[in-house]
Amino acid sequence: MSKLFYQGRGRKPVLDQARGVYMWDKNGRRYLDGSSGAMVCNIGHSNDHVLAAMQRQMEKSTFGYRLHFETEASENMAEKLAEKMPEGLDRVFFVSGGSEAVESAMKLARQYALAVGQGERWKIISRTPSYHGCTLGALATTGYTTLTAPFEPMMRVMPKVPAPRAYLDGLDPDAAATGRHYADMLARRIEEEGPENVLAFIVEPIGGASTGALVSPAGYLERVREICDQYGILLILDEVMTGAGRTGAFLGVDHWGVRPDIVVMSKGIGSGYAPLGAMVADRRLVEPVLDAGGFAHGFTYAGNPLACAAGLAVLEEIDRQDLCTNAAAMGEKLLARLNGLMQRHEIIGDVRGKGLLTAFEFMSDRSTKAPLPKQLNAHQRFVDIAYERGLIVYSRRTRDGVEGDHILVCPPLILNEGHIDEIIEGLDESLVQFAQEIAPVMQA
Ligand code: PMP
Repeated sequence: MSKLFYQGRGRKPVLDQARGVYMWDKNGRRYLDGSSGAMVCNIGHSNDHVLAAMQRQMEKSTFGYRLHFETEASENMAEKLAEKMPEGLDRVFFVSGGSEAVESAMKLARQYALAVGQGERWKIISRTPSYHGCTLGALATTGYTTLTAPFEPMMRVMPKVPAPRAYLDGLDPDAAATGRHYADMLARRIEEEGPENVLAFIVEPIGGASTGALVSPAGYLERVREICDQYGILLILDEVMTGAGRTGAFLGVDHWGVRPDIVVMSKGIGSGYAPLGAMVADRRLVEPVLDAGGFAHGFTYAGNPLACAAGLAVLEEIDRQDLCTNAAAMGEKLLARLNGLMQRHEIIGDVRGKGLLTAFEFMSDRSTKAPLPKQLNAHQRFVDIAYERGLIVYSRRTRDGVEGDHILVCPPLILNEGHIDEIIEGLDESLVQFAQEIAPVMQA
């Protein structure tokens, strides 16, 4: 009996090795990592350049407390990351994961408001559904009732607006009116909350785990930016999942050219080699906070040199292998093949995504968009079937308040066409098996 516990009681196979897009368990079974873990391992497993950089760093030093030393590793990583950010975003604060990065952004925004004499601003609006992390601050902005409900008495739940799920609302995601329709809900919410109290809006440019690769409709983020400017509200982009090339550009928001005030990142920048997250902020926000006495925030492991050396080598590999371009090209092919699966399999009701952040959603009736019956626990059952076939994919319930299941297909960005064939074959067989299994329930 293992001493470890995570979500439930189920035991998993023991991981032995991983290389590229493949992983092997202790019994020698091979898996294709079709979700890069949890959309983490963007450059693939066991990359030689990263391992060598970590080895070199380990031989020099593995820890230097940030109040005692600066390290070359964290300086160089900050420099490299800032190069990839929109103009003006060049102040970097390292942390160890996505939730910590979101917490840091929330607190920097608040301290900025205090420093510029706007202490009444504290509300951070976010979307439903959304996922921004599991620490109580980040959770307060998370729009996902199952995760938040037990802890509501312990936190100050933040206001929400609906995520722009055009496909469920019967709207055309490519029409500018659609983006405006959803963005204007933010303006209304700000008015309801009292604009003078609103500090920031936090949003994923392409929704990840909670919405299943929900691409922002045309004009949405541009209009959100306008609204934030109109009310003097900060725009925080949660690029924890979408960043580091995942969607075919370094940041998800790069597809729309919208300039955020703060970007939070994790997952892909460490690519699984080390626990690493970052908040990158506009210097216009940071300077007043430093002038007012400094940022009252920080984690012991901030800027850990080993994590930063890994992160720098990861970014170098993204550049050297031109992985953003590969993610865009392979993503288009993967999306087309997923659409092909939708033609063959009735239970797929929607296919969506950008770059290698792609997903499909199960529906029992495409015309009414009715989900599969809840008792099927479809998302988990499908993941288990695929796993038994050696294909790892990631799933969640889609709709907060309304039932639904989506499957995320997000392989490492080093993907090639042979891997896509393998993924599609695994999904196709799994869909056949799944449809057979659920047939009695569906016919009842
Ligand atoms: N934001 C987003 C968009 C995420 O996808 C995640 C993790 N799934 C987080 C924040 C939290 O990151 P972590 O689990 O590293 O704390």
